[in-house]
Amino acid sequence: MAQIAIFDHMQQHQFEQVVHFFDRSTGLKGITVIHNTTLGPALGGTRIWNYATEEEALVDCLRLARGMTYKSAAAGLNLGGGKTVLIGDAAQVKSEAYFRAFGRFVQSLNGRYITAEDVNTSTKDMSYVAMETDHVVGLEGKSGNPSPVTAKGVYHGIRAGLFKKYGSADVQGRSFAVQGAGQTGYYLINYLVEAGAGDIFFTEINPKHISRMRLEHPQVRYVEPDEIFGLDVDVLAPCALGGALNDETIPQIKAPVIAGSANNVLLDEEAHSLMLMNRGIIYCPDFVINAGGIINVYHELIGYNKDRAMADAARIYDRLLDIFAIAEKEGISTYAAARVFAEQRIQSIRNLRDNYIPR
Ligand code: NAD
Repeated sequence: MAQIAIFDHMQQHQFEQVVHFFDRSTGLKGITVIHNTTLGPALGGTRIWNYATEEEALVDCLRLARGMTYKSAAAGLNLGGGKTVLIGDAAQVKSEAYFRAFGRFVQSLNGRYITAEDVNTSTKDMSYVAMETDHVVGLEGKSGNPSPVTAKGVYHGIRAGLFKKYGSADVQGRSFAVQGAGQTGYYLINYLVEAGAGDIFFTEINPKHISRMRLEHPQVRYVEPDEIFGLDVDVLAPCALGGALNDETIPQIKAPVIAGSANNVLLDEEAHSLMLMNRGIIYCPDFVINAGGIINVYHELIGYNKDRAMADAARIYDRLLDIFAIAEKEGISTYAAARVFAEQRIQSIRNLRDNYIPR
């Protein structure tokens, strides 16, 4: 990988702050990136990963922090975008002292950055972080598991996609193909069944998740992983891993609407969003439709109430309709339109503050 010219990169993508930290007692090594705090403190989870190089860790952190800016802005939250990566093997590095050392660095940012759990970190780990900083969310006994809220947001996103396609948001009688019945896919299928959806197909690679579905919803039909994309259904809901929509899978898709929870579901955001647009497929952008998780932790900051978090996740429906309208008006992909939508919100709030009002 070519050496990254950090200030050029910061200028090009408008990053505010990149912090490297090292704790001599625990060996903690990490990077926190604050991309943009126009709307509020930068919020983003902490990922532990055994990166091959420091460069790779930095590039990942920059990319993830920037993604958080767009996700929160599009979700209508008063949050900016940030992220932390801790470099190391999660199986080796974790300890109370390690996370407390990290918490002290988070505190040193004085609330400009709020952390939460992410890949290889848990609510328990965050409870150690919370011993040293006020700026951590997603704690045990607070907002809890975000997956039901994420799935609820996806459910409303599906309704928006159906409305765009058929002029009716009703899921009754419509058919669905769900890839992945883990946390979010499982809850999504429950919501669809509850709402009287028509045929539902799912695929999984975890036998426990297959048997759970067979037991709880025998009418939901299992298909093999490579069959899910080609099913003749109304909605394809990718709820497994990133990169699921790519050169190989997109040509197989028969569903006119794609709406699922998976992050970074387009292998190449530019190329594959255009490919979907050219095939006339309505794609609900991942960072808009799966914002239920961040909406859920945001409510922890403003005083947690599950019903209010769920109601906020339901607003994903209107947001997607606005984004579809931008895409149509500008002749751009829904993914590009979602970026425009998020950037417009950041810009409009920035403009709002150009006069001085004492508070
Ligand atoms: P999860 O691990 O609980 O579920 C994913 C499921 O997909 C697993 O059961 C796994 O066995 C299955 N799977 C993986 N590869 C598969 C394949 N090729 N074919 C079929 N099944 C496959 O994860 P989750 O929390 O449900 O998250 C799913 C996606 O949604 C991820 O991309 C995640 O980043 C994103 N997301 C989740 C949340 C949340 O609140 N959990 C919030 C935002 C985004």
